[in-house]
Amino acid sequence: MILNIIFLFFTIYLLIQSIIEQRPFYKKMKRSIGFRGGKIIYIDKPQEVKEKGVIYGKLLKSDKYGLSGKPDYIYQLGEELIPIELKSSQAEDSPYYKDVMQLVAYFLIIEDVYQKRVKRGRVVYKNSMFEVYNRRSLRKELFNILKQMKKMQEGNYLPEVNPSYALCRFCPCKETVCEIYKNTSK
Ligand code: SF4
Repeated sequence: MILNIIFLFFTIYLLIQSIIEQRPFYKKMKRSIGFRGGKIIYIDKPQEVKEKGVIYGKLLKSDKYGLSGKPDYIYQLGEELIPIELKSSQAEDSPYYKDVMQLVAYFLIIEDVYQKRVKRGRVVYKNSMFEVYNRRSLRKELFNILKQMKKMQEGNYLPEVNPSYALCRFCPCKETVCEIYKNTSK
């Protein structure tokens, strides 16, 4: 009997998870920075006059995931921690994939550093803002990218990419660390 009840709850849990996973992982919102009733607990900039309870510009490191980074802001809203990333670019209908992955990396870092599950974060562009939800599928994508990066570092793998002016023009890796771009532009 007890096993049946546990099985039922587990099935319901899986069903709810699959419904959640199928919903869009982001929502476009009116641009704003901050939350009513929320307080800033982290800012990625040095500050001469420091406010109590706020961390300024510290590199956040996750040993568990081998990741480190500095979100622009972390807000606390009740028990919830919400990273915010500001971008100097514009985006119309959806956030850029690289920005979503950056935010997902912050979800993992914050979870490890603060020991709290992060539900969402925001990417704020010059003209728009998107709330991104911490979905299992996004975490999986990030883990795949991290695996590929590790293989690349070990020299075992080069992704199949065709660099081009259009693809690479705004990429910070171009002419710095990108071996693919280096090889094709010779
Ligand atoms: S420069 Fe390299 S990493 Fe950047 S977009 Fe081009 S191929 Fe990709």
